[in-house]
Amino acid sequence: MFDLTTRDIKYLAGVGPQRAALLNKELSVYSFHDLLYYFPYKYVDRSRIYLAREINGTMPYIQLKGEILGFETFGEGRQRRLVAHFSDGTGVVDLVWFQGIKYLEGKYKLHKPYIVFGKPTVYNGRINIAHPDIDEVQNLNLATMGMQPYYNTTEKMKRSSLNSHVMAKLMSALLQQITFPLAETLSPSILAEYHLMPLTDALRNIHFPSDADVLRKAQYRLKFEELFYVQLNILRYAKDRRRKYRGYVFERVGEIFNTFYARNLPFELTNAQKRVLKEIRRDVGTGRQMNRLLQGDVGSGKTLVALMSMLMALDNGYQACLMAPTEILATQHYETICNLLYGMNVRVELLTGSVKGNKRESILSGLLSGDVHILIGTHAVIEDTVNFASLGFVVIDEQHRFGVAQRARMWTKNSRPPHVLVMTATPIPRTLAMTLYGDLDVSVIDELPPGRKPVVTIHQYDAQRKSLYQSLRKQIDAGRQVYIVYPLIKESEKIDLKNLEEGYLHVCEEFPGYKVCKVHGKMKPAEKDAQMQLFASGEAQIMVATTVIEVGVNVPNASVMVIENAERFGLSQLHQLRGRVGRGADQSYCILVTGYKLAEDTQKRLDIMVRTNDGFEIAEADLKMRGPGDLEGTQQSGMAFDLKIADITRDGQLLQYVREIAEKIVESDPDESFPENAVLWKQLKVLRKANENWAAIS
Ligand code: ADP
Ligand code: MG
Repeated sequence: MFDLTTRDIKYLAGVGPQRAALLNKELSVYSFHDLLYYFPYKYVDRSRIYLAREINGTMPYIQLKGEILGFETFGEGRQRRLVAHFSDGTGVVDLVWFQGIKYLEGKYKLHKPYIVFGKPTVYNGRINIAHPDIDEVQNLNLATMGMQPYYNTTEKMKRSSLNSHVMAKLMSALLQQITFPLAETLSPSILAEYHLMPLTDALRNIHFPSDADVLRKAQYRLKFEELFYVQLNILRYAKDRRRKYRGYVFERVGEIFNTFYARNLPFELTNAQKRVLKEIRRDVGTGRQMNRLLQGDVGSGKTLVALMSMLMALDNGYQACLMAPTEILATQHYETICNLLYGMNVRVELLTGSVKGNKRESILSGLLSGDVHILIGTHAVIEDTVNFASLGFVVIDEQHRFGVAQRARMWTKNSRPPHVLVMTATPIPRTLAMTLYGDLDVSVIDELPPGRKPVVTIHQYDAQRKSLYQSLRKQIDAGRQVYIVYPLIKESEKIDLKNLEEGYLHVCEEFPGYKVCKVHGKMKPAEKDAQMQLFASGEAQIMVATTVIEVGVNVPNASVMVIENAERFGLSQLHQLRGRVGRGADQSYCILVTGYKLAEDTQKRLDIMVRTNDGFEIAEADLKMRGPGDLEGTQQSGMAFDLKIADITRDGQLLQYVREIAEKIVESDPDESFPENAVLWKQLKVLRKANENWAAIS
């Protein structure tokens, strides 16, 4: 049989050069193999009539035969919906419409036999089918309809009549050409042990399943395989790297660490901080290079953990470096750490893009001679001109702003890679972390320092501005400070800046007699710093800002965060912004201001924010609502949204399951010599060659 991966798609019956060009361009389908792996996004079982009493909310598209017992309408205006109670005598299902209500009420008759087709869901404990297809019984011939695949196509394709229906025809032509079984991509033992459908059958049935049960088995096999190889890739190459790169061994906890602990530590560590420090201490003592992800909600005290880990490096004669995503943050870390180390004999330097001339020279030479112990900075620290005498420990704050590639660049600053601690305040759901950072160990600070009161979050409408300003005045008069944040989607967008400027003027007018400062990303660093300083010192009571203050800024006396146009922010951004308050002992507030008209998704986001302060819960919700491709951080790593069939928001359990299987294989067959596993290693190589993101893991 010919090789599917090299056979040009234009040679498939029904394709030809024009359609081939479209398939190339629109779907990246170049070969027979590519088309075969272009899976339907849904199926429609039109061979079977279900009974209303069999239906549950997890079923795909189904059809029922019965009659409408009555109509009801609910809600007002945009919330208005029409419900038809539909029954076949075994139960009642609600058909629901949100649009075209007038038209529909006249269109369908009571007590007339219809076939209803759609996706059942459960709402308020009742089975619902939203916007179903409805046909009169005599108009359909079900016997010839069967289980039908639906393929995603683009506008361009549809315009050239290359729609889902035509795609199905092409797929059918392709499958007819496959007369022999394809080479199996999983080992016989895995297939047998986990009861998986053979590859060729799975591919046939993923496109044209005879029934829902077979479809489920085909999907399971293909999802299993996809997630399995993602994990095998990560685990196999993480093991390689561990073998290749030995890490520095920090043998002792010594004078600097102990002095800091005894004399300088301003408070008792939380139990979570202690636990994480122990985890790090254990890692750096083993001789294995540490790659650890530290997740902790905003305000959980990650900086202290970072500092104390860096002191371990210093105690063993190594230097340490902390990298932050913005100049403001780097500066703040620098100041915090200098304060914490007050009176100790440790030289800390700050290196950012704006450090130039003599100062820069002196830092660079201090790094080379080993006189500089701790370097704090922005991207500037990964430049080639920055070299260390013996860099032993690197902390990267707010990982999602840096790519995996930048993390890797820190390793090359030395013959041996330093230990790396990556800190993120945007909690990443476990399943996502396992795919994105499968090669990182994970520590979690799941406890806030004592005495923190959870931030109270309130959703307010534009129209309630008067009362909002009144309560702000009350807070300020009681000695608190207030942030007012305007959206800035892209720092270059002029409109956003205009919003901010207008907002600033408006706030100045509304709050005469108070000092208002202003920060945005287009400002010169010196100007920005001066404004920040006004707020940090308490001289200004109100700060009007864009999201430049999203990350890390720490002013404990600020107790109110007002977010204007809150509908324009994503969940994780809202959560980050809210994290700027609630840092002192006072009760803090976060006010989300929007207009009246809100999309359903926006309303959901605001509801979640009002309901919970738990960053992990918010991250899970974010992942569910947006899917992994849109989450910050996934863009750079690519892994999570290259998936063709598995969906980590829904297949988390399977992911965990196959990870354990992959782990067992990597551990039991370290030399890759077991004949039964040969097919796995071979397939892994094929995948790494075909997908550059996969090869980035090594
Ligand atoms: P994040 O995890 O968001 O980076 P920070 O490290 O900035 O949090 O810490 C937030 C605040 O909590 C800082 O003001 C810090 O001094 C304080 N803090 C950290 N650890 C403790 C602790 N164990 N007890 C009391 N306050 C702490
Ligand atoms: Mg921080």
